[in-house]
Amino acid sequence: MSAPEIRCEQGQRQVFCGLSGIVWLHRKIQDAFFLVVGSRTCAHLLQSAAGVMIFAEPRFATAILQERDLAGLADCNQELDRVAAEVLERRPDIKTLFLVGSCPSEVIKLDLGKAAERLSEVYRGRVRVLDYSASGLETAFTQGEDACLQALLPELPTRPAGERSLLIVGTLPDVVEDQFKRLFDELGIGPVEFLPPRHATEYPSVGNGTLMLLAQPFVGETARALQKRGATLLTAPYPFGIEGTRAWLKAATDAWGIPAERLEAVTAPAIARAEKGLARQRELLAGKRICFLPDSQLEIPMARFLQRECGMELVEVATPFLDRQLMEAELPLLPPDLHLTEGQDVDRQLDRVRAARPDLTVCGLGLANPLEAEGLRTKWSIELVFTPVHGFDQAADLAELFARPLVRGALLKV
Ligand code: SF4
Repeated sequence: MSAPEIRCEQGQRQVFCGLSGIVWLHRKIQDAFFLVVGSRTCAHLLQSAAGVMIFAEPRFATAILQERDLAGLADCNQELDRVAAEVLERRPDIKTLFLVGSCPSEVIKLDLGKAAERLSEVYRGRVRVLDYSASGLETAFTQGEDACLQALLPELPTRPAGERSLLIVGTLPDVVEDQFKRLFDELGIGPVEFLPPRHATEYPSVGNGTLMLLAQPFVGETARALQKRGATLLTAPYPFGIEGTRAWLKAATDAWGIPAERLEAVTAPAIARAEKGLARQRELLAGKRICFLPDSQLEIPMARFLQRECGMELVEVATPFLDRQLMEAELPLLPPDLHLTEGQDVDRQLDRVRAARPDLTVCGLGLANPLEAEGLRTKWSIELVFTPVHGFDQAADLAELFARPLVRGALLKV
C-alpha cells in the first residue's frame, strides 16, 4: 500500500507546551509529585489544562520564580529546596519527585539536574528526585510525557540477558491497562510490564529480551533510548479502534509465535461488543468531513480510525512532528491522496479550514473558540489523552468523542 505524500509547513504555531503532560502523568504514577519550576504563566497553563479534568487529585505544584530570583541563582536553589521540603513533609506517600523545567528556569540557566542530585542525597532511601524539561514553544504538549519517561529510564533495572518480556510504553488509563493485561494473559503472553508504572515499586526491567509495543505515538525518544538498552520495537499501528487494536495485539502474538486462530478466538467477544457499539456511532459520523490541526501527535492514528472504521472523509490531517519510525505501520493505512501536513503555519492552516468548512475540526484549546465563533464545530485534541480511548472496549467511546460535537451542532441548528 502506498502512503500519502507529506507536505511540510513552517511558521507561527499555536500549541500548549509539555507541562500539560503532568495532568495525565500525575494521575498515572500514583506516588509521584511534579514540581514545576516556573513562572505564574506556567502555573496558569497547568491550571487551565487540569481544569479540563473533573476528578483531578492534584499531585503537582509550581515553585514560582520571582523577579528577585532572576538576580541570584543561589536564592533560587534555596527556594527550590524549601518548597521540595514542604511538599515532602506534607505528602509522606510521595516516592518520586519530578523537578520539571520550564522556559523561565531555562532562561536563568537553573541546573535542575544538579538540584535533583542534591535533593536525592538529602532524601536518599525515601524519595527519588528526577528532573526533566517541559519547556518550549516549539514543542507539542504530548512531548512532556516523552521527556518524563526518559527521566525514568536510568531507574529501570536491567533484565537478565535473553529473558523475554513485553513492555508497553506510553500512559494508559488503569482500566485500559487492566483490559490489556487480561488479553495478554489469555493469549499466553508474559511477563507484561508498563511504562510509566503506577507506583515506584513497579518499575519495569529492560534487557535484550525485551520486546516493546508503543501505546502512544509520542514516545519516540523513550523508545529509541530503550532500544539502546537492548529492547526491540515491535512495529504496529496504535491500539485505537478495532483494526488498530487487533493489529497491535497481532504484533505481540507473532513475536510470541502464537497462532492467528488463537488471537481470533481470544479477541472475538471484545470485537463483537466493539462492532455493536461502533455501528451506532458510524451512523452519525459516516460521510462527515473532518480536519485535524497539528496538536497532539495523535492525529494520524485517529484519522486512520475515523476514515477506515467510521467512514469519515479526511479533509486535511496535520501533525506537529511526523516520526517516520513510529508511523511506519500507520502511514500505509491512510488514503494515498490525503492532504497530510507536518508542522504548522497557523494562519495558512486556518485559511484552509475556513475555505473547506469541514463538519468537524480537531484542534487545541486556543483555536477552538475562534472557530466555534465562526460557526465551525470543533473537538479539543487534549481530550484524547484525558479519556480512555485505547482498545476494543473503548472503540465506540472514541468514536463518540467525535460524534458528540456534531450531535450538539445539529441540535443547535434545530
Ligand atoms: S511555554 Fe514556557 S513559560 Fe509558557 S507555560 Fe510552558 S514552560 Fe511556562
